[in-house]
Amino acid sequence: MTLLLGCIADDFTGATDLAALLARSGLPVSLRIGIPEEKRRRDETAAFEVIALKCRTSPVDIAVEQARQALQWLREAGASRFFWKYCSTFDSTANGNIGPVADMLMAETGATQTIYCPAFPENGRSVFMGHLFVGEQLLSESPMKDHPLTPMRDSSLIRLLTPQVAGPVGLANRNIVSKGPTALRARLAQLGDDGIRHVIVDAVGDDDLGTIAAASFDMPLLTGGSAIAGQLPRLYLEQGLVTLPQHQQALPKVTGGAIVLSGSCSAMTRKQVANYAGKVASLRLDPIALAQDGATAALEWLGRQSPDTAKLIYATAEPDDVRRAQERLGREKAGQVVEDALSEVAREAFRYGTRRFVVAGGETSGAITQALGVTHLTIGPEIAPGVPWTFAAVSGEPIALALKSGNFGGEGFFSDAFDLLEGA
Ligand code: ADP
Repeated sequence: MTLLLGCIADDFTGATDLAALLARSGLPVSLRIGIPEEKRRRDETAAFEVIALKCRTSPVDIAVEQARQALQWLREAGASRFFWKYCSTFDSTANGNIGPVADMLMAETGATQTIYCPAFPENGRSVFMGHLFVGEQLLSESPMKDHPLTPMRDSSLIRLLTPQVAGPVGLANRNIVSKGPTALRARLAQLGDDGIRHVIVDAVGDDDLGTIAAASFDMPLLTGGSAIAGQLPRLYLEQGLVTLPQHQQALPKVTGGAIVLSGSCSAMTRKQVANYAGKVASLRLDPIALAQDGATAALEWLGRQSPDTAKLIYATAEPDDVRRAQERLGREKAGQVVEDALSEVAREAFRYGTRRFVVAGGETSGAITQALGVTHLTIGPEIAPGVPWTFAAVSGEPIALALKSGNFGGEGFFSDAFDLLEGA
């Protein structure tokens, strides 16, 4: 099938979120973890190819290089339009990596202008007058201010992006967007005439996203959250660039033990963990103990549980506990020991028959999928907006994986996930 859009995502749950929204169209979506080794022939690609990187918090030069290689692969697979996917809460460090990667992709694709549209109204992320909101709160007042790796302390996307890119950052605000695609195109052209290549675009509702997609879908590079990308399949179908396949692919039936592994400390994950810990056998991991003694105690605990019943292992903690661990170990080490331990637990769980994995946390999902050796995922039904069940093979065995970004899903998400799989 013709590859219509080559997508590069800066983390794993971001990639599954994007893949889920694209897959709502009924068009085939393929998700590859890391830069694929095999050269894909053009007729083997899906309409949408998503490459999941794990570069949100990498040093800038590494993130840019990985994205360059992903771009190269997508181009060789036949893509001529590209999407750079980052979090709907614009998670980035002081140096990047949203801007530097976008700059590189613009240079490589010859894009003279691109848009930045993180809004995801269905999940409560909106952008108004260049400021990002999470529900009714400014980003900087939302729980994202306490994120362990990318604390977001400013809500102005212009202020956040400007130090990350070459050249000025402009805004196409809601007043323009609400006038429709023609007005927005005119505004983008005017900004382009003023030499503004990087444009933040306001969006508070799905109608806004429809307008933005209609005004910008022919740019060689678009950037943003999954929701703006989710508008593109409809446009491609309307334009006759692709037709819906006649038969939907049958999804594998996965049985076998179930486990939830959570390394996310986001506010919604904390609620989900509290909710699920009351329902199944659960174990809390403490980074300070892990740094001293490794994951042995967790592996022993796992060995004492019945393989078949669902269980929960989590490092999820309140902001004060996270701060304490980071003060003792350093931010990076605290995150690393947790990711390493959960990775070991995942491998051990697989060995002892677990085939259904729910993972909470973007970085955590990256670590666990790598540990399991998963490289290619098929996208299944959505558990919550932006969180699908995905299917993969580990050592030739089918597994089901749900990779949940920190703040996604409702309080009962973990039970919902297994219920959906059992009913599927
Ligand atoms: P989210 O999707 O919520 O952002 P991530 O997995 O991307 O979650 O990021 C959470 C980071 O916090 C991970 O690197 C994880 O290892 C780390 N972490 C988890 N628990 C703790 C803890 N108790 N103390 C410090 N860091 C932690």
